[in-house]
Amino acid sequence: MAATIIDGREAAARVRAEVAREVEEFFDQTGRRPGLATILVGDDPASEIYVRNKRKSSTEVGIADFHRHLPADARQDEVAAVIQECNQNFDISGILLQLPVPEGLDGSVLTGMISPDKDVDGLTPISAGRLAQNLPGLRPCTPLGIVELLDSHDVMLEGADAVVVGRSNLVGRPMATLLVHRNATVTVCHSRTRDLPGVCARADVLVAAIGRPGMIGPPYVKPGGVVIDVGINRTEQGLVGDVDFEAVAERASLITPVPGGVGPMTPAMLLRNTVLAARLGLG
Ligand code: NAP
Repeated sequence: MAATIIDGREAAARVRAEVAREVEEFFDQTGRRPGLATILVGDDPASEIYVRNKRKSSTEVGIADFHRHLPADARQDEVAAVIQECNQNFDISGILLQLPVPEGLDGSVLTGMISPDKDVDGLTPISAGRLAQNLPGLRPCTPLGIVELLDSHDVMLEGADAVVVGRSNLVGRPMATLLVHRNATVTVCHSRTRDLPGVCARADVLVAAIGRPGMIGPPYVKPGGVVIDVGINRTEQGLVGDVDFEAVAERASLITPVPGGVGPMTPAMLLRNTVLAARLGLG
């Protein structure tokens, strides 16, 4: 195998340790702890696990836990009222509405009600606008975690050809924007892109955020390129990414595995965003 493997677990542990120090500093300065409100509607088992893990990792770094659990049959206005209460609660720095919400609720409308200064997932339209205009604000956690991984391996982004496959509001779009702000030359690909392998093979940095197991094979990869695999696909072979890891690792210089690459970074960046939101709240 030619490529160096980027260890996302190690990087995430480093971020969590940094956040723990920043939480203590914030406490020393203000006498308060940053607070994270996790809002869970319904009893979806996967969502319950995600929320439990986020609460556990936030309390481990000293962030105060403000959990809100609503029943699956909660009405839109009831969830909205909880969001408004969290928006107004001075002890809550960050708000996370666990998606998807149960049928009958509009998750994107509810997300849009979160105060942009507490939007630790970076998913509200105002956060997206701040990102687009490179104004201070909270950025989506997964792309933020990817930039952290690239920086921790001193990947030169300035002037680099970067290709992002995927244009979701959650990953692809904000990823492309963050890379533009770092002065990369960015191409965004999607399901209608012509000659996807040809476009991808020009990339110094290739980010795959597609949701198709093993789709990115060696023909998509520039020799010596950096390959970031965002995909999380549950298959009969277990959890796999969008990249054919074994084959691509022969061609790339740096590569993230699945699991253990981008995945651990997302919750770590949520913690960092919560501290940033607490600081913004001091404004
Ligand atoms: P999404 O909303 O489904 O977006 C997928 C994107 O891939 C779309 O832009 C789609 O194009 C594009 N696409 C689909 N098939 C394609 C094809 N054959 N060729 C080229 N482009 C294609 O998914 P997402 O939320 O961005 O997530 C993407 C993957 O990342 C999923 O596996 C998800 O589980 C994973 N994920 C991981 C993390 C993490 O922390 N590691 C976080 C979030 C998501 P169109 O726009 O044209 O439809």
